[in-house]
Parts: sequence; structure tokens; C-alpha cells
Amino acid sequence: MAVTQGHGNPRWTRDETLLALALYFDVDGKVPSPRAPEVKALSEILRSLPYYAEVAKQPTFRNPDGVGFKLMNIRQVATGKGLGNVSSMDRQIWAEYGARKDEVHQIAKAIKAGIATVGSEQIPEIEQELPEGRVLTAIHIRRERNPKVRKMLLDDRRVAGFRCDICDLARPDLEEPLQEAIFEAHHLVPLADAGERKTKLADLALLCACCHRLIHRAMVAKARWMGLDEARALIVPG
Ligand SMILES: [Zn+2]
Ligand SMILES: [Zn+2]
Repeated sequence: MAVTQGHGNPRWTRDETLLALALYFDVDGKVPSPRAPEVKALSEILRSLPYYAEVAKQPTFRNPDGVGFKLMNIRQVATGKGLGNVSSMDRQIWAEYGARKDEVHQIAKAIKAGIATVGSEQIPEIEQELPEGRVLTAIHIRRERNPKVRKMLLDDRRVAGFRCDICDLARPDLEEPLQEAIFEAHHLVPLADAGERKTKLADLALLCACCHRLIHRAMVAKARWMGLDEARALIVPG
């Protein structure tokens, strides 16, 4: 069940708030009328997000008026002026991304492309959603769990012996199928840059399940993408 507010509509997600922030930047903080084509366009995109199939049947869901209110809320957070009903998500996204305009545009572009990639399939709620939101996190996870991608990486590392690229964990004493069970593929390309290109070996790190969990959690905590060196400094005891 989605959490709702206002007219029974679910709270705005990270994806949605990032898309609204991109539009806020596009219009230079001058909130357009709900009839403006760019507001209508965003309303359409939000209604097509691959986790809103049911609620998007409601005509009031993320209609142009709702998008207009959200833009005013963002303006309020950005300028400190106004009397709207600002949410904690509005504040959080502004704190994280208010000074990262180019990145926000890149993420918004990737989310829009991601909606097309995912198609009509609905994405379930994700426990540790990355800062770029649910659509791009789902695509990242799907890419990493792709059996062909995993096999490509394991086959590449088999001869040298499986070893975690962050903490160096290796268990050559175990039988190979058990060793394989320790390791996962992690996609190194930032979510907003990955696009539709085919995953190459160079895009991948072999991580033990524990380090994989930790690097994802650290990205959530820091609200930005993180490379292996930074993760190593954070995770591996000095
Ligand atoms: Zn590890
Ligand atoms: Zn990963």
C-alpha cells in the first residue's frame, strides 16, 4: 500500500521530486501556470511511472495543478518564501540536489529513458533506494543480477581466483560453487550515465555480498554515487 496524503494521492517519491526539481531549474524558478505545456508534460510522465498503474487511474493523480503546487513547494524550500505545504522529501531533495543542477538534469533524463525501458512492468518498492530514485535503482539492480552479466564477470575472474574488489575477501579453500555464492556483480557506472549501453566487463566490480550491501548503503547515506576507492576507505578497517 502506498502512503497517501492530500486527496488520497501517494506522497511524491524521489523520482518524482527530482523530475519536478529539473523542471524548476528549467523555468528558472518562475513557476508556470498549470496549463503550460511543460507542466502538462511532467504530469503525463509522472502518471506513467512504472509503479503507479493503479493510482494513475484517478484523474486527479499528479494532474497539472498538482505539478504546479509541487513546483511552488520547491520554490518555497529554495527561496524560503511562501506558505505551501512543504514535505520532508522536498526539503531532502533540495538539500541534496539544490546545488547540483547539471546532475539533476542528467538524472531526470535518465529517469525518463528508464520509464521507457521498464515499460508496463511495475517496479515494487525497493528497500535501499539509491539517491537517483526507484526507477534507476531498479534498473541498476536488474543489470547487476542479469545472469549473463554475472557469468561474464565470474568467468573472467575464475582463473585468478575470486576476490572481493573492496575488502579482498577470498575463500579458495571452499569448493567453487560455494565460492561463487559469496560474490555479486556491482555495476560501476553512475546510474544517470549508464543509459541503454550494453554492460561491459570494465563496468563491473566483483564484490562479496557484504561489501556490495555496504557500498549501496553508503551511497544511500551520502546521497550520491560512490566509487570503489572511496568505498574501500569507508569500509575496510585502516
Ligand atoms: Zn568485500
Ligand atoms: Zn550494486
